[in-house]
Formats: sequence, structure tokens, C-alpha cells
Amino acid sequence: MATVVPPAVRRPTHHPDEALLFDYATGRTSEAESLIVATHLTLCPECRHKVAEFEAIGGAIVDDITPVAMADNAFAAVLSEIGSDAAVNRATAIPTTATPVSRDAVPVGGSSMLPRPILTYLDNPRTLTWNSVVRGLEEVSLPIDCATVKLLRIRAGMAMPQHTHGGTEMTMVLAGGFTDETGHYQRGDVAATDAAVDHRPVADAGEDCVCLIVTDAPLRLTGPIGRLLNPFVKF
Ligand SMILES: [Zn+2]
Repeated sequence: MATVVPPAVRRPTHHPDEALLFDYATGRTSEAESLIVATHLTLCPECRHKVAEFEAIGGAIVDDITPVAMADNAFAAVLSEIGSDAAVNRATAIPTTATPVSRDAVPVGGSSMLPRPILTYLDNPRTLTWNSVVRGLEEVSLPIDCATVKLLRIRAGMAMPQHTHGGTEMTMVLAGGFTDETGHYQRGDVAATDAAVDHRPVADAGEDCVCLIVTDAPLRLTGPIGRLLNPFVKF
């Protein structure tokens, strides 16, 4: 049986892959990817260190670039874009990428807190409205357009339906923990899965499991009952 370490002292053991951290450090992740990486960084000194190194490498490369003259219309082009939708979308920054969990974080279960990057997407984090998906499974959708981004709560000891994925799925544990065919995940851990993974996450006993989930395509239920439910259940 897996050892459960208190969240206050535990450091994550499952991390986003380095390619994603590099893309994050160089500003090439989507808003949804940025949110899950930024949230992980609040709990993971190891990945904060890696991102800082990638940022330093990127800065050194920029320093070495030979300056070139700007186009004559560059200033006018920037002015015309200010206030456009494109500019607004790019400005949707994920704040505090590498700061520890702050005093304004709010509890989501036990002593676990919602990290600050997530709070910026919630109107009232202290009164989250959980919507039931199936028995033992509830969700809160976050307002991000480029992917499906949710907080998911699996009641303690209960299982998600067996499922696979139409695309990629990244899951970060915020409270409690879960086990699936790929391992055991606790607060701060990130699990990345795709269509090759068919799994049935089971929440640890004793505490509800709350996760941040980013998917770029709907899940597909694969168990005998799940296949019948597919037309009716939308994750
Ligand atoms: Zn990490």
C-alpha cells in the first residue's frame, strides 16, 4: 500500500515533462498549459529551479542576438493592435508563476489549499459550486477557451469510470490522492495521459481527491457500463 505523506512537507514526485517546462519558460504554452504548469510550480521547488534555468538560457540567447533594424511601419502596427482581441488574449497572463502558496489561497480539503494561479479563474473560491457528473464525481469548469479546464472532485475511496482519451489529458492533484494503472499521485503531482492510456483512477480513502484537469478532447468511457453512458456523460 502506498505511503501517504502529509501535504505540508511533501514535495511532488510526478512532474510535467521538461519539454513542457521549457515551452512554459519561453512563453510558448497555451493558457491552459500555463495554468497547470504555474500551479505545479507553486508546489514544486525542483521545477521552479528548472524553469529559472530555462529562462536564464533564453535570456542569454536574446542577449547574443545581433540587433536588426525594425520595419518602418512597426510602431504603427503595434499601435493598431493595442486594444484588439488578439492583444487582449495574449495579455491573459497567469500570475505569480513561481511564488509559494499565499495566505489568500483557500482550503479544498484537509490542509490542502487552492494555489493562487487557480484562484484568478474563480469568482468566489470560498463557495465553489460543484456540479455532479456521475455518482461520487463532481466538477467546476474554469473559463478558459483553448481547452477544457476543470476542477474535479472524486469522493474519498471512489473510482472514476474506466476511460481513455480522444487527445491529451493533464491532471494535477490539489487535495487527497489517487491511484491508477500508471502510479500513485498526491498533492502537486502531475499525470499526463493520452489515447494510449486506458485507466480507472481511484481516490485514496480518507479524503476527497481534488484535481485540476486540462483536456484537449473529450474522454471516452471504456468500461462495460461506461460505453453505454458515453452519449450522456460529458467530461
Ligand atoms: Zn515539479
